[in-house]
Amino acid sequence: MKIENGLIKEFNISGIKFAQDLIPITNKLARSQLAMKPQHITLHNPASGNATAQNLTDYADSYSGYKSWHLTIIGINVFQELPFNEVSWNAGDGYNGPGNRSSISLEIGEDEVSENTAKVFVAYLMKEYNIPIEKVLPHKIWSGKNCPAYTLPHWDSYIKSIDEYYKEITKKPHWAEKNKLSLENKGIAINDTRYDDFMTRGEVFALLDRIIK
Ligand SMILES: [Zn+2]
Repeated sequence: MKIENGLIKEFNISGIKFAQDLIPITNKLARSQLAMKPQHITLHNPASGNATAQNLTDYADSYSGYKSWHLTIIGINVFQELPFNEVSWNAGDGYNGPGNRSSISLEIGEDEVSENTAKVFVAYLMKEYNIPIEKVLPHKIWSGKNCPAYTLPHWDSYIKSIDEYYKEITKKPHWAEKNKLSLENKGIAINDTRYDDFMTRGEVFALLDRIIK
């Protein structure tokens, strides 16, 4: 995922469909046009029944009021509604509320597929904006509203799964990876990445026999 000036520019994670559908600038209430340095990621459930992502993104475009969010995520469909460096009116904690002023906000459908899709975006946003997992928060923290109502009962396990995915996409390569790749280029296939496991003597014999002609 590539993000520039608060907009997702490149997206190619298989199984997920992404599109930009920014709320029009002419919607002056929903578009705050206030600059933001993202410091939190706030999660919501839309509680909009069977609405599709397309329904919800259309609703965001035309809603006339202080209500907006950055990403709509339903099933495998995702729309970006606002640049990540613009304040969204998501948290219900007032014009100067920290939830509104510092959160990237996600509306996530009430099912497992939507949560799995959202996990990917939360992790990449954490990486892009240097936001620690402790700052991925439920809407409820900011205003007391019971949101995200579907996710809150399993909040801790969901956060744990996001953190695991984040660690996967940010992990540094092992120091020996370059040697493994170099050997593979020489035609010695090693289908194994347990870099810190011991070798048995048998494996050493087999390896030496393969490389010493
Ligand atoms: Zn909410």
